[in-house]
Amino acid sequence: MSVPSKGKNFQTYSYFLSFIGRTCIHSKIREAILDSYKALEIIQPEMTFIYGEMGWCNGGRFRPHRTHQNGLSVDFMVPIRYKKTGLPAVIPTNIFTSFGYSMRFDETGNYISCLPSFRSSKRRCTEYQIDFKAIIDHLYALQKSALKQGSAIDKIIIDPPLLKLLRKEKDYFKVESLPFLQGKAWFSHDGHYHVDFKMTA
Ligand SMILES: [Zn+2]
Repeated sequence: MSVPSKGKNFQTYSYFLSFIGRTCIHSKIREAILDSYKALEIIQPEMTFIYGEMGWCNGGRFRPHRTHQNGLSVDFMVPIRYKKTGLPAVIPTNIFTSFGYSMRFDETGNYISCLPSFRSSKRRCTEYQIDFKAIIDHLYALQKSALKQGSAIDKIIIDPPLLKLLRKEKDYFKVESLPFLQGKAWFSHDGHYHVDFKMTA
């Protein structure tokens, strides 16, 4: 089933790619995702959460991913804030960032986005910082919602340097028991985290 492209505190990485059917998911997982966003309205009231690729509505090979074929895999874009002000930001998911997938954060979770300016020779740059606390709140809410729906998180893939930073967060204990993949993933995951679900009921 297709996930709504926009809600109160969430939106798709691409209206176009949602429209052509790249954000379909098992109905129970869909419920879990939406339920967790509801919970986040209270826990993270300022943040807008962006989801990425899920799978084709009819299943099947989903390039360029190796997984995402059975309606149980979801990518989430990292929640970010403006480094300067600390205010929540929305990850620039456009064609220049491959809808967020080509954003490369450094090992401290920073990302600088520069756009050429037409008026002057100076480029306009914006600095972002990953909000690790928001990732924890999201994963925690997601697992809670999944359990209610008869499913559970089976695997979380997050780029190792970012997982290291996540572990340093004060609230990490909340998600400590979740199945984070150890070691290097088969492709760079630093602009997003990948979550596999399993059905338990
Ligand atoms: Zn993925």
